[in-house]
Amino acid sequence: MADPSIASAPRRTRLPRRLLVTRSAQEHAHGRSIVARAEGLGIPVVPLPANQVRLPPQPDERRAYAEAKATMALVVAPPSKLRLQPIAPSADWRVDLAEGCPAHCAYCYLAGSLSGPPITRVYANLDEIEAVLPDFLGKGRITSRSRARAHEGTTFEASCYTDPLAIEPLTGSLAALIRHFGAWDADVQLRFTSKFADVSSMLDLPHGGRTRMRASVNPPAFHRFEAGTDRVAARLAALRAMALAGYKVGLTIAPIIAAEGWREAYAGLIDLAAEALSGLPGLDLTAELITHRFTPGSREVLASWYPGSDLEMDPALRAEKRTKFAGTKFVYPPELMTELKTFFHAELAAKLPEARVLYWT
Ligand code: SF4
Repeated sequence: MADPSIASAPRRTRLPRRLLVTRSAQEHAHGRSIVARAEGLGIPVVPLPANQVRLPPQPDERRAYAEAKATMALVVAPPSKLRLQPIAPSADWRVDLAEGCPAHCAYCYLAGSLSGPPITRVYANLDEIEAVLPDFLGKGRITSRSRARAHEGTTFEASCYTDPLAIEPLTGSLAALIRHFGAWDADVQLRFTSKFADVSSMLDLPHGGRTRMRASVNPPAFHRFEAGTDRVAARLAALRAMALAGYKVGLTIAPIIAAEGWREAYAGLIDLAAEALSGLPGLDLTAELITHRFTPGSREVLASWYPGSDLEMDPALRAEKRTKFAGTKFVYPPELMTELKTFFHAELAAKLPEARVLYWT
């Protein structure tokens, strides 16, 4: 029988096979620190003559995908990234440390939002990103306007376009931002969610109670949809360690997948979470519940990236809705949505009553 401790040991986060460095990125101190980290980790560093990021042509799409996923590019975040956008229903504002992710989830929402080969672009101008944050203080329209959540202060979400923990061993960007919020004496909260488990560099940070980490979780039986991520037991163990280190914590149950056996699978997941988070004094725990959805664009990209996946993405089995950008998305039909919602609220209330459900979508 396998040693159960192995299941919850953090797996070494995947490191890129190369770091491409644009000319402008080298002008920023944080960029230079990432280059130094890469060299320390033995990752080949490739200086680029300009600011365009390109990989050599590959013989086929599979190879192009694999090479892009194995590549990190150090770039300067464009001015548009410094004009923060609201990010409903998670937070008042979105703050991006990077775009892209090295993992291979069959449902990845980034497939529909990012264009070009899936290279992870990390931002060198962290100082400029941090410098704009005070401009958004007290101006939030999502959590700040919600009677139930206004006590969270102005919220900033760092996981919209990347998994910040997945790239942390090389970037150090998340730790730097947590320190920044820890030192920011204001009514603010940094939020991030992750499918990774190496929190070793986070535990001793002076976070000031102004960061909430959520573990993004799915049942072990659905791990086949989340290739390249850490096992759910390891993510939950990491969340426990963060709670013990005084962080606010949460569960992002996402995406909720109504595949065969979903009731038993998610009941088991909530049992695992309740066990992992038991006996924690002063636990500040939230839950966010996000059902699986896709757009015509993301479906097409994901089908080309993961042709062998058995994840259901059949528009005929879904309800069609409009997105906030006037596009189309496919969600579960209303009856199934109601069944799922009722199930999750009842399970959480029974097994994890400490969890405040922030939203269902
Ligand atoms: Fe996408 Fe998140 Fe999976 Fe990364 S961990 S591939 S961002 S869904």
